[in-house]
Amino acid sequence: MPSTEADALIRALVRPAVQEMRAYHVPPARGLIKLDAMENPYSWPQAVREQWLGALRDAEINRYPDPQAADLKAALRRSQAIPDAADLLLGNGSDELIQLLGMALGGESRTVLSPGPGFAMYRLIAGFTGMEFVEVPLRGEDFALDMPAMRRAIAECRPAIIYLAYPNNPTGNAFDAEQVREILDLAPGVVVLDEAYHAFCGESFIDLVPDRPQLLVMRTLSKMGLAGLRLGFLVAQPAWIRELEKCRLPYNINTLTQRSTLFALEHETLLEEQTARIRADRELLLEQLQRLPAVVKAWPSRANFITFRSRSGSAATIHARLRESGILIKCLDGSHPLLHDCLRVTVGSTGENRAFVDALAAVGEG
Ligand SMILES: *Cc1c(COP(=O)(O)O)cnc(C)c1O
Repeated sequence: MPSTEADALIRALVRPAVQEMRAYHVPPARGLIKLDAMENPYSWPQAVREQWLGALRDAEINRYPDPQAADLKAALRRSQAIPDAADLLLGNGSDELIQLLGMALGGESRTVLSPGPGFAMYRLIAGFTGMEFVEVPLRGEDFALDMPAMRRAIAECRPAIIYLAYPNNPTGNAFDAEQVREILDLAPGVVVLDEAYHAFCGESFIDLVPDRPQLLVMRTLSKMGLAGLRLGFLVAQPAWIRELEKCRLPYNINTLTQRSTLFALEHETLLEEQTARIRADRELLLEQLQRLPAVVKAWPSRANFITFRSRSGSAATIHARLRESGILIKCLDGSHPLLHDCLRVTVGSTGENRAFVDALAAVGEG
């Protein structure tokens, strides 16, 4: 095999923590109804698409992008009601911001702590930025924070970073706000409130930023309808943003993303109508899931997905049968002890949700 020399080099050179990792796997979805990745299912009306292309027409793609993305930041400030006393840092998706935090705060003897089951990237990125990852299990029944366990873990591990996804992925619940505040009080390092699903939740910690030097609030435009553009942002006190800017690559937000996002924010009501519809459909979908014999439990959600438990041992079969019917959801069984027999479905368009419920009902009968 010609690769043996490369293999030997890799074993000698690549950091052991990276050698032990497995790359993040995204399953192929071509031709399927895609309900696995929390995307907004709706596109823009043709007339809006034409205007968008018009806004891109004179983009100078022979030039580097605006490294400060000043116009975009001003639009985000307005759109997202960012406090005047806070500043923002842009990332190529919030995934890149998690990586940037790892590079700035990481290193041996530095710990990342997060409740679990949680967002996979916290652990993955801790791995390749040389940080220890400590997971504190959520309560099994309702996925609430286990506060005695959190207090103990924070005192013992002294984490440099605590990640709290609010609402949490893949469980869909928003943690108790009082408990989040207690964690802010206890934290010896920074607390990143990951508000990726803010558009579907309503509640936020962003207004606390001016009073809380340890609080970093992270959001993304991915889940509200712009996943293809890759834009995330971190909101924190200006001193933090100045420091973290040192680790940001100067042109991480490309010209097409800057222009397209500006355009999208000018047409924000469109996105708001879409997310409102998704929120309403989420409640309908939850009721329908709770009535299906194949579903043992479906948890209420503050995000744009629903996690549910199927009968013991049936999750993989359900996932495969849905796939045969042309519907892709996420099988969570095996990913975490608290998620045995669980699956996660993204709230799609009204028609997609109906197709999913029908297919799941058919699996239950067959
Ligand atoms: C999807 C998701 C992200 C990543 O969002 P991008 O901006 O697309 O990188 C971050 N945090 C949580 C909790 C998510 O579910």
